[in-house]
Order: sequence, then C-alpha cells, then structure tokens
Amino acid sequence: MVVDSTAIVTGGGRGIGQAICEKLASEGVDVVVADIDEGETGETEQLVEARGQRALSVETDVSNEEDVSDLVETVLDEFGSIEILVNNAGIAGPTNPCEDVEPSEWDATMNVNLRGPFLLCREVIPTMKEQSYGRIVNIASVTGKKPLLNRTPYAAAKMGLIGLTRTLALELGTHDINVNAVCPGSVDGPRIDRVFEKQAEATGRTYDQVRSEVECQSPRNELVQREDIADAVAYLCSEESKRITGQDLNVSAGKVMY
Ligand code: NAD
Repeated sequence: MVVDSTAIVTGGGRGIGQAICEKLASEGVDVVVADIDEGETGETEQLVEARGQRALSVETDVSNEEDVSDLVETVLDEFGSIEILVNNAGIAGPTNPCEDVEPSEWDATMNVNLRGPFLLCREVIPTMKEQSYGRIVNIASVTGKKPLLNRTPYAAAKMGLIGLTRTLALELGTHDINVNAVCPGSVDGPRIDRVFEKQAEATGRTYDQVRSEVECQSPRNELVQREDIADAVAYLCSEESKRITGQDLNVSAGKVMY
C-alpha cells in the first residue's frame, strides 16, 4: 500500500464495506466512509480508529451527482489526496420475473449499482490522473458473470459494472490507475439470510434447505466470509498487484469458475 493513502469506501457502514474499511485501515490507510445512512457509520469509524488510522463519515447517496461531487471536495479538503476508491454500495433489487419488475425498481437498482460507481469514478479520476496513481476496486458479483433467475436488474447492473471496470482500465492504465472488480459469491451475513428467507418462502422450502443448496454450489461446500472480500480488495490496492488491471476476480469459495 502506498504510504499515507486515503481511501473512499462507499456503503462502508456495515457488511462487506465495513470489513473493507477495517482491512484497509489495518494496512495503514485513512478511510472515508461514504454511506447513505450516516447513522450507521459510527461502528466503522471506531474500527478504523482502533487500527490507528483517521476515519471520516460523509453522508452520500452514490446515485446523486451533487452528493458525489461534495464528497470528493470534502475528502480533498480534509486529506489532500485520494489513492483508493472502493465502489461497494449496492442494493439487491427486485426478485421477480422481468414482466413483474416495475421500471422504478429497475431505475433504483441501476442507479445505486451502476450509475453510482460511474459518478464516483468520474469525480475521482481527475485527482488520480494528477497524482499519476490510483487504485479503483468495484464490488460486482458472481451474478455479474452467471445470471441468477429472477434478478434481471441486479444481474444487468453487475454485468455493466464489470464492463465499466474493463473499459476504465483501458483508459487509465498509462496513468498508473488500476481498475479491477471483485465478484463475491454468497457472503455469510444478514443480507444473504434475507435472500435465503425470501427464496425459501417463494419455493416452499426451509431456510436450511436453501442455504445448504447454495453451500453445495461451492467445491468447498461453504459460503464466503466478508473478510475474504476485504482481503481481495486490499491485495488489489497493494504494490504486489500493480500489474493487475481490468480483471474481475471471483471470491466465491469456488462457485462460478469463469
Ligand atoms: P449491505 O446491504 O449489508 O450493505 C450495503 C451498504 O451500502 C449499507 O451500509 C447501505 O446503507 C449502503 N448503501 C445502500 N444504498 C446506498 C447509496 N445509494 N449510497 C450510499 N450507500 C448506500 O450489503 P453487502 O452485503 O455488504 O454488499 C456490499 C456489496 O457487495 C454490494 O455491492 C453487493 O451487491 C455486493 N455483493 C454482496 C453479496 C452478498 O452475499 N452479501 C454477494 C455478491 C455481491
């Protein structure tokens, strides 16, 4: 990790984003937690500070152009540079057949999962170009590679996010700005529990049956932990990965092998 780095982590208030904030702090990075729910970011700030790094929360809706512009201005005022951007904020979207998806649900899913990362990248790229250095990691999903039934907006958004990653890597490589995606499989925790519960309800099975079916999709027969995602992000921001860009790395305990 470059000394005195500052990272923006969107959706860092809980879940995978919180684990990413803690891991980056443990590597000596100051962390800005950009979350729509500022009430939720206190715990993340404490975790970052416990690692001896500076933490700042900025209430941000990643899909709002003005919020994103204000966020980047605040970070530059407070920290003077932005070495790392992790586009982690995301929402699951509807779980219906396409004909039952409301256009408003499509827009909301696209806005957070794809427009948000675009706005963030657009806003930090000039600074990263000036610095001749940057590491951008987009949290996509294995659903961005192998579609999941009844998840049209989410799958399309995550596929788009992988496309954004590859295209930006091409644009920015000569500036030493690497752009990669991490594609989590099903990550253990409350969010995936809600998905399993919905699937169980919809198909007349139990939560345990749904969970065990998903675990079986992994050759290791297990779910991924959020710390696994954080470790992959830290690697993609480290000097050891400096010639890796434009890639989409599955962190899925072996689920989806392409
Ligand atoms: P989560 O719901 O636990 O946390 C998401 C965070 O993003 C929350 O703090 C929330 O307040 C914030 N957020 C939501 N909308 C926002 C917005 N408009 N602007 C700013 N912040 C916003 O989710 P998670 O499980 O930690 O997922 C994190 C990322 O990983 C997402 O992009 C998700 O699609 C992806 N992912 C998760 C899984 C999984 O199994 N959990 C699997 C594959 C991919």
